[in-house]
Formats: sequence, C-alpha cells, structure tokens
Amino acid sequence: MVGSPDRVGFIGVGTMGAHMVRNLLRAGYDVYAFDERPEAVEALAGSRGMGSVSEVARAAEIVVTMLPDTPDVEAVVLGPGGLAEAMGRGGLVLDMSTISPVAAGRLQQALADRGVGFVDAPVSGGPAGAEAGTLTIMAGGEAADFARAEPVFAAMGSTITHVGGPGAGQTVKLCNQVMVAINLQSCCEAMALARASGVDLDQVRRVLMGGSAASWMLDRLGPQMIAGDARAGFRIDLMLKDLRLVAELAQSLAVPLPGMALATSQFLDAKAHGEGGLGNQALFRVYDRMTNQRQE
Ligand code: NAD
Repeated sequence: MVGSPDRVGFIGVGTMGAHMVRNLLRAGYDVYAFDERPEAVEALAGSRGMGSVSEVARAAEIVVTMLPDTPDVEAVVLGPGGLAEAMGRGGLVLDMSTISPVAAGRLQQALADRGVGFVDAPVSGGPAGAEAGTLTIMAGGEAADFARAEPVFAAMGSTITHVGGPGAGQTVKLCNQVMVAINLQSCCEAMALARASGVDLDQVRRVLMGGSAASWMLDRLGPQMIAGDARAGFRIDLMLKDLRLVAELAQSLAVPLPGMALATSQFLDAKAHGEGGLGNQALFRVYDRMTNQRQE
C-alpha cells in the first residue's frame, strides 16, 4: 500500500547510501532504491530496484536522498520527473547528503508549497558509521516532519538531533567539516614531524590517542595515513565540495576562517596532484611532498 510507513524510498546508493539501505532493511523497512548507476542498485540484495526517481516517489511516502552535491539533490527534487512533481501531498523527503544550507531552505519551501515535507539531515561518521548504523544525524526542519522522520533515522544512526529549522542541519554539518578538515590537517602535520624525527608512527598514534590530542581522525584515519593506504572512504573531492560550502556560508556571514583557508589550500594541492579520488587521509601526501620523506 502506498503510504505505508514501512516503505522507504532511497535515491543514491553509493559509498554511504548502500550501507544505510542495508540498515533500513535490517530494521524491517521495504526499501525502494534508485541510483543513476543501475549496478549499484543491483548489488543491494533485499531492496527493490526502481527505474527512475518518479517510480520511487510513487512507491513510498518517505524518500531519502544521499547524493554527492547540491545540484544533484536539486535535480532529483525539482527536476523533471523529480520528487516535487511525483510525490503526493503528505509525502516526506529526507535529504541526508551534505549540501548548501541555503539550497536546503529553498528545497523545503518548494516542497512545502506542494504539501510535501522536507528535512535536511546530513550525517557524520563515515562509511564505518553508516555500516554500523551509528551515524550522527543533524536534522533541520519543521518539528512535525522531524517527528515522522525519527524512526527512519533511528535505523541508520545513533545520535539523532533536531538542531533547528530548515537548513540548520546543513549548517551544523558544515561546522563539523571545519573541525574535520583542520583536525585531519593537524594529524598530518604532527605525523610529518614525528616521521622526520625518526620515532615510530604507530606508537606515536597510540600514545597520542591516550592524551589530549586524541581525535576521531587520528583514531580512524591515522592507521591508514601511516600505512599509506589511500583508499576512499570519504573522497578528497567530496571534502573540497564541503569546504566550498563552508567558504560560501562564511563569506555570506563575513566570518573569517583562517584555519579553513589553509586546510582548503592543502586539499587543493592534493587534487592538483591527481589525488581527488583518494580518501581524505591521503592529505598526508601533501606533507610527503613538502618534507621529501616519501613519495607514493
Ligand atoms: P558517492 O558518490 O559514493 O554516492 C553517491 C551516489 O549517488 C552514487 O552512487 C551516484 O551514482 C548517485 N547519484 C548521483 N547523482 C544521482 C542522480 N541524479 N540520481 C540518482 N543517483 C545519483 O557519495 P557518498 O560518499 O555516498 O556521499 C554521499 C553524500 O554524503 C555526500 O553529500 C557526502 O558529502 C556525504 N557524506 C559522505 C561521507 C563519506 O564518508 N563518504 C560521510 C558523511 C557525509
């Protein structure tokens, strides 16, 4: 039955979305999935593969989007055959991608005009958090929409907070990314110094994890950084997208973010060296080059 709360549509089953769909299935939801890469949907055992966004919109009253960037979400929601056009009144869109807070506010308004709810609910926790169902979810939107969304979020995350009105989830996520980027850069910097000094990097990491320098980045990405394992996770290109969103927000509010500016330059250096498709921990390669210690 269309409108059953047990049916959830899901658009964008990439690195994060595929894990999130599996957790929705585990929680007992019927998931109606679409991705512009059909092979991504085929690989998702248990979900029902759909041929288009509008098919998803007709199958489920609640639809999650987990797409790369603002234009992707705008196309899926507002484009021809998109969710705004195809979802009936009473529908609910949960955008869990990281996009512009201003765009999220516009999407909420455009959908509200059609009687469809919208919650911006970006996440933190990476593919490991998505797989474990322990994502941190920061949600912006109307209280009634958040209340309807909460059980769906609970299948995918463990820290779920309604942080404010439309766009507020994205704003909090961008604050998160300021800390993520600068923290990762600080880990690389400390490791570059440790390596040049000849101390054992695994031991340095273990010791630092026991003190006031401990961080999620050092804990989760430190081992890959030290081993030179650059596999993505969270791609440098996606980080640069987030840093662009941060810069836009900061400029619109006239807030100087000097630490961010430096970190952004280093991520751009990595991209210029063809490393945009690598995981974020490959930022260490910028320090490899600066210190001439190791070249991949
Ligand atoms: P991804 O590129 O791996 O997955 C995105 C998926 O969307 C792909 O499968 C792609 O084919 C699909 N897609 C793109 N445009 C589409 C369209 N128009 N219609 C249907 N499908 C379309 O990206 P990801 O790493 O899963 O990240 C998704 C979002 O989550 C991004 O906004 C990212 O910033 C955010 N995020 C990622 C991580 C991470 O660690 N990877 C962590 C937190 C947040």
